[in-house]
Amino acid sequence: MLNANDLLKKALNGERLTPEEGLHLYTQGDPEAIMEAAHQVRLQKTEPGVVTYLVDRNINYTNVCTTDCQFCSFYRIPGHPEAYVITRRELGEKIEELLAWGGTRILMQGGHNPDLPIEWYEDLLRWLKATYPEIELDCFSPSEIENIAKLEGMTMEEVLERLHAAGLDGLPGGGAEILDDDVRKRISPKKTKTAEWLHAMRIAQRLGMVTSATMVIGFGETMQQRINSLTRLRELQDESLAAHGNGFTAFIMWTAQLSETNSMGRSRHRHKYGADYDEYLHTNAFARLYLDNFTNFQASWPTQGLEVARRALYAGANDFGSTMLEENVVSQAAAYTQREPRMSVYRLHEQIRLAGFEPAQRDSRYRIIRRFDRVMSKEELAPRPIPTRLAGLREPIPIAG
Ligand code: SF4
Repeated sequence: MLNANDLLKKALNGERLTPEEGLHLYTQGDPEAIMEAAHQVRLQKTEPGVVTYLVDRNINYTNVCTTDCQFCSFYRIPGHPEAYVITRRELGEKIEELLAWGGTRILMQGGHNPDLPIEWYEDLLRWLKATYPEIELDCFSPSEIENIAKLEGMTMEEVLERLHAAGLDGLPGGGAEILDDDVRKRISPKKTKTAEWLHAMRIAQRLGMVTSATMVIGFGETMQQRINSLTRLRELQDESLAAHGNGFTAFIMWTAQLSETNSMGRSRHRHKYGADYDEYLHTNAFARLYLDNFTNFQASWPTQGLEVARRALYAGANDFGSTMLEENVVSQAAAYTQREPRMSVYRLHEQIRLAGFEPAQRDSRYRIIRRFDRVMSKEELAPRPIPTRLAGLREPIPIAG
């Protein structure tokens, strides 16, 4: 007979929970005790007094998409008056602003645009690497890779190998939502299924790329389906770490963002969807115990707000995510970032110190690149503009939005 307190002790001892045990602890355990245990595990696995963060920028290169996910407020169908494909000048200006802030990475994702051939992605990556060699390029989620593969009649492996050769450093974990096909068929029937999402990540990890694992709760999924999703991430992590030592760098979780701007938010079943702050903290903490082969867990301030993100630092999270000088996807569905769309480095430090930790800037592999053993002033953390590298830029022939 399973007992939640025994299972908590088991997790605290570093022993792995089976899926059945995990489900029991998650549904029957005391959430406060789970959060406290998750914090203890975080203190054992990562530097105790430090909370890390990344200076980066989310860039959405196109909002054109044909996949119609029910929870998405961001996409526009081909030919829509608001459809766009980013120009190099726009992209370069965003990166130069990021460099001024001391940024080290862009996370670039977009819709499933049917008009962009693989050469468009390759040319863009080569140009980015040549122009901004110090910026790490974590771009395109598994579903975008699958979209390119389908359009080109290629395998995902071929696509990833070509994009990696052109300069792609990492594959963000977006689009995982819940890795259970019963959920996926209901909320995003045209999108990448579980096996393909995992396969893209498996290839990226084999190629030595940076990858992250994500989960979004609040789609009306069952607790068992959440456990299924976490179990699949844990299994791939085992497999990749054993095969070549390169697995997911972190686990990042947030809640579905519902609003009148997406069909799930307008649904007459809306009351069945969404998840509150307590459920977010409880689930993130449980994941810290269940995903025993992951080191880093992020607190998601863009969707949960600053107060909940600070609480998450005492419930398993060791990282405050990133400055996010720009975010367009969850922001379009009433997330916290509608109120505070940008997070300066100073404000991020302020939040980490308010929670009782020392901030440290990291890169996307979670290696610390700058420590701050004293409180820095606004001026010290202010951006320092750099000379533009866009003089003489010639745009390639534009592709219709
Ligand atoms: S979530 Fe991504 S794939 Fe789905 S509709 Fe939005 S842009 Fe398209």
